[in-house]
Amino acid sequence: MARVYNFSAGPAVLPEEVLAEAASEMLDYQGSGMSVMEMSHRSKPFASIIESAEQDLRDLMGIPDNYRVLFLQGGASTQFAMIPMNLMRNKVADYVVSGSWSKKAWKEAKLYGDARCIANSDDENFSYVPDVKKLEISEDADYVYICQNETIYGTVYHELPDTQGKPLVADVSSCFLSEPINVSDYGLIYGGVQKNVGPAGVTIVIIREDLISDDVFPRTPTMLRYDTHADAKSLYNTPPCYGIYMCGKVFKWLKAQGGLEAMKERNVEKAQLLYDYLDQSALFSGTARKEDRSIMNVPFVTGNDELDAKFVAEARKAGIESIKGHRSVGGMRASIYNAMPREGVEALVAFMKQFEADNA
Ligand code: PMP
Repeated sequence: MARVYNFSAGPAVLPEEVLAEAASEMLDYQGSGMSVMEMSHRSKPFASIIESAEQDLRDLMGIPDNYRVLFLQGGASTQFAMIPMNLMRNKVADYVVSGSWSKKAWKEAKLYGDARCIANSDDENFSYVPDVKKLEISEDADYVYICQNETIYGTVYHELPDTQGKPLVADVSSCFLSEPINVSDYGLIYGGVQKNVGPAGVTIVIIREDLISDDVFPRTPTMLRYDTHADAKSLYNTPPCYGIYMCGKVFKWLKAQGGLEAMKERNVEKAQLLYDYLDQSALFSGTARKEDRSIMNVPFVTGNDELDAKFVAEARKAGIESIKGHRSVGGMRASIYNAMPREGVEALVAFMKQFEADNA
C-alpha cells in the first residue's frame, strides 16, 4: 500500500486509523450483518451512531445546551441561502467579505434581503482579513457574517469581530475542529465536513436555539428550514448516514488525540514548520499577510508560473499530492488539516528545500 501525502483543500486527508476501522466494519457493522451504508436511518444501530456523533461533537467543542447540532446535506454552499432564508427577519444582514467564500455567501444573501458588505479585502486580492475591531454594524442587522478561514487565500480571523450584540454567523468549513472555539461567541457556526471532519456530503450546523423559528422567508422549502431539521433531530428525511458515521469516527479519533487543545498545538507546530521555511526562502513566498495567515491552508508561489507547474509535477512524483494552488491565487497551496501528519509537512519542506537548491 502506498499512501501519498495528500495536501488537497477538500475533500481531504482523513486519519488512516479511521479509514482502516471503517474498512474493517464495511461488510458487517458490529454484528448487524450489514454495512452502515445499507442500514435504515430509523434502525437502532444508526440511532446510536448519530446520537454518539452528536454527543462526541458536543464534548469536543463544549457546545452549550442551548445550541442545536444539525447534520444536513447540500454542502456549505446551501447554507449561503439557508442562513438568510431563516435568519433575516428584518431583511438586513452585514457581511465581511474576506475571500471567495464570504463573497459568494454575501451575493446569495442579496436574493433574500438587504445584505450589506461592511468590510472587504478585495483591494489586495483577499490576502488579509479586514480590520473588524471597529465595524459599522447596521442597527437593524439580523446577523453579522464571516468566513472564519478563507480556504483559497489562506487567511484566518485571529480575533472575532465585535458584532455589537448581533448574532455572529461563521463559516468554519476549513478550520472546523482545528482548535478550540468558544461556541457562545456565535449565533450559528457551520461547515461542510469534507476538509477537516469527514467525507463530502455532510454539513454540520450548530445554531443557538433562539435563532430557530418558523418566521422564515416566505415559501422557504421545508427542507431548507432549520426548524424542520431541529424538530426531527436531523432525521426529517434520510440523512447522509454513512458520512455521519465517518464523522462520528473522526470525533472519537480527535478525543483520543487529546481533544481540540492538543490538535491546536500540533496544527500550530505543523504550520510553523512550513512558514518558517517560507519566510527565509529565496524562491518561495507565502501570499497571505503574516498576521492573518491560516494554520490550515498555506498558499505560496515562486512568482514564475512555469516553475510553479514544474514544482507541482515533480512534487507529485515524490508522493506529494494535490499541492496545486487555486486558480485565483495561482502557485501552490498546502492544506494541512488535522489528519495531515507532521511527517507529511516535513516531507513537503524537505522537497521544497531540494527544489529550491536545484532551481536556484
Ligand atoms: N466555505 C468554505 C470556506 C469552503 O472552503 C468551501 C469549499 N471549498 C465552501 C464554503 C463550499 O463548500 P461546499 O462545496 O460544501 O458547498
